[in-house]
Amino acid sequence: MQMTSSYSTSTESILEQENQFGAHNYHPLPVVLSRGLGTYVWDVDGKKYYDFLSGYSALNQGHCHPKIIASLIFQAQRLTLTSRAFHNDQFAEYARFITQYFGYDKVLPMNTGVEAVETAIKLARRWGYAVKGIPENKARIIVFENNFHGRTSAVISFSSDPWSYAGFGPFMPGFDLIAYNDLAALEKALQYKEVAGVLIEPIQGEAGVVVPDDGYLSKVYEYCRQANVLFLGDEIQTGLGRTGKMLACDHEGVRPDILILGKALSGGTLPVSAVLADDEIMLTIKPGEHGSTYGGNPLACAVALTSLAVLKEENMTENAAIMGAYFREGLSALNSPHIETIRGKGLLNAIVIHSSQEETAWNLCLELKENGLLAKPTHGNKIRFAPPLTITKPQLDECLEIIEDSLAILKKD
Ligand code: PLP
Repeated sequence: MQMTSSYSTSTESILEQENQFGAHNYHPLPVVLSRGLGTYVWDVDGKKYYDFLSGYSALNQGHCHPKIIASLIFQAQRLTLTSRAFHNDQFAEYARFITQYFGYDKVLPMNTGVEAVETAIKLARRWGYAVKGIPENKARIIVFENNFHGRTSAVISFSSDPWSYAGFGPFMPGFDLIAYNDLAALEKALQYKEVAGVLIEPIQGEAGVVVPDDGYLSKVYEYCRQANVLFLGDEIQTGLGRTGKMLACDHEGVRPDILILGKALSGGTLPVSAVLADDEIMLTIKPGEHGSTYGGNPLACAVALTSLAVLKEENMTENAAIMGAYFREGLSALNSPHIETIRGKGLLNAIVIHSSQEETAWNLCLELKENGLLAKPTHGNKIRFAPPLTITKPQLDECLEIIEDSLAILKKD
């Protein structure tokens, strides 16, 4: 299949410069963006695109949401960082707001998603020793095949994806990797008294939007209760309205013992993550035992509070539910012989391309780009479709047309 792609000289020179001076740890689509607003981004030549990745769901509220940007600018001109060596006048209000928003006793603020995952693991281990009575250094955490929780050495230690872990050993012990969406495997793994927690994505986003069976999450939670084990919900990608509920766990009435949030907590403006839990768990970590220079900084607190507020004020979660159903219906109605599977919840969706050739999904994404829609393949032949939650019906109609036209190029295979 012959693909064409139109680069301008400025795009070409930026790609060349990045290739020369930037580390090669990503493989981006060849598009250079310089502006974003709502569901749209523009490249350096002024070409407009729909953003169907939304910064891996960090931009649920859309690009440059005016209220979020206003908070960012206002706070940036007053006070940006104190470290937690001193108090600042934003953290207390943000802590009250986010704990009441999600119904937990306490919040521990961090920056990137993976730092929040690390925090949740440390909290679960500490709770395991201090409350459950697990013998020192014996705590175990159950994790799932095809998980994605970030890139630190501890977190890749329990990845099942060689692209994440190979060549980075030695690995951290204490994790039991079991099959996802398999209750029998979980029951077996929970037999060990040293298990402190189960770390789970309610939908596996990076794996290609893998949605477990209905009832699975509530059973996982029930099994955790029976075994006196904490349920650690990684809602970094699935949370904050993305799946048509505030949290993906809400679809099954599950309240994680430790809730992990990131990405859209700042509406795509700066790294802000958070771990929420009740006192029995959170207060097992004492002053000086965990933290981060930027965690809880006043800029992040002001921005996160507004990012959460606008999600509710503008009914973004409800819109995600309605638009998501509409989008999946529209995709099925295309009746494309190239689409093997359509799956997802709310506006976290993926298609699996009917092809054994990995380049097919990449080439389709190049064609989508040519036609004005940006999406990225994940794990070979899967393409995630996750636009900002502010997307409208007429916009989705246009996007479905772009997808239909772009799929047409696959016929040349
Ligand atoms: N957990 C999940 C479920 C994610 O999807 C991601 C990122 O994609 C992370 C953790 C890591 O977040 P970050 O890249 O901000 O460290």
